[in-house]
Amino acid sequence: MSRYWSDIVHRLVPYVPGEQPALAKPVKLNTNENPYPPSPRVLEAIHAELGEHAESLRRYPDPVSKRLRAVVAAHHGLNADQVFVGNGSDEVLAHAFQALLKHDLPILFPDITYSFYPTYARLYDVQYRTVPLDDAFAIRIEDYAQPNGGVIFPNPNAPTGHALPLAQIEKLVAANTESAVVIDEAYVDFGAESAIALIDRYPNLLVVHTTSKSRSLAGMRVGFAFGHPDLIDALNRVKDSFNSYPLDRLAQAAAAAAYEDTEWLHTTSARVMASRQRLTAALAELGFDVVPSAANFVFARHPSHDAAAISAKLREQEIFVRHFNAPRVNQHLRISIGTDAECEKLVDALKGIVK
Ligand SMILES: *Cc1c(COP(=O)(O)O)cnc(C)c1O
Repeated sequence: MSRYWSDIVHRLVPYVPGEQPALAKPVKLNTNENPYPPSPRVLEAIHAELGEHAESLRRYPDPVSKRLRAVVAAHHGLNADQVFVGNGSDEVLAHAFQALLKHDLPILFPDITYSFYPTYARLYDVQYRTVPLDDAFAIRIEDYAQPNGGVIFPNPNAPTGHALPLAQIEKLVAANTESAVVIDEAYVDFGAESAIALIDRYPNLLVVHTTSKSRSLAGMRVGFAFGHPDLIDALNRVKDSFNSYPLDRLAQAAAAAAYEDTEWLHTTSARVMASRQRLTAALAELGFDVVPSAANFVFARHPSHDAAAISAKLREQEIFVRHFNAPRVNQHLRISIGTDAECEKLVDALKGIVK
């Protein structure tokens, strides 16, 4: 603390990211990174930026990522003016809070959800009200039928992995025409339905994507928003009042190459989903209750072992999972899907802990 701090800094409750341990080979199942590398085409694109195009590094990158937006728009069957690009989807979400969710009424999001939402709300002075998930950790769309300044949640939700069918999302978006609905689809490629299909019909819908999870590019920081051009315009107005060049040249080239290799996406996502099924069965065999997941992680609790204690014992064996010390979920662990070898190490370690 310092007397030089602004009032807002005194009031902030910063998001705490998962640990990045400085170990040679940790079993790192705590931040939902992809266990597989990005497409080889991504590496080729980065090499080209550093080789034949290296001379252009002295120049600023394209401020609006025109080529990347065209590639991604084509991939999703959209127009480029329906696409916004940011430095990771966290930045895209932050801009959405300022550009679309800051109004006189409180915004709504689930009580158990991505913990960055309340952080952004405090940073930008956005009022919010949390809406409890049901006992099976599902979002009940009916509960959002109340006056609001906007609605935001992930689908699949984090950290539960629970996904809502597209028909439920459409019901919410159709009933909530007075404010924006933001669907954060960070994990959609691991088995949920995307609301991008609704964009042409609902001018209040913003869908947010990231290359960090299913496209194995967490290290490049590239995220997107898809929506009506007026919503995209609002995000661009905030961006150009904040940082005109959010994406460097390497990130723009890498992300475009990732979207040009859909086969890689499908192959690696299918492997993650198959591993998820095996890990879910192995955890159930050890007595864990596992929430059915449509994401690249599972959310599980053991009825007779404390979650924080399990996490600490795993850590001693250099196995990292995520524990949230929060109401309703402090007996759960969020476990990212690793390679099959990593999942086996986890299950072996858990056998020693819970048996
Ligand atoms: C990982 C995650 C993000 C952030 O992704 P970045 O693009 O890496 O900033 C956003 N929303 C949810 C729900 C996530 O889990």
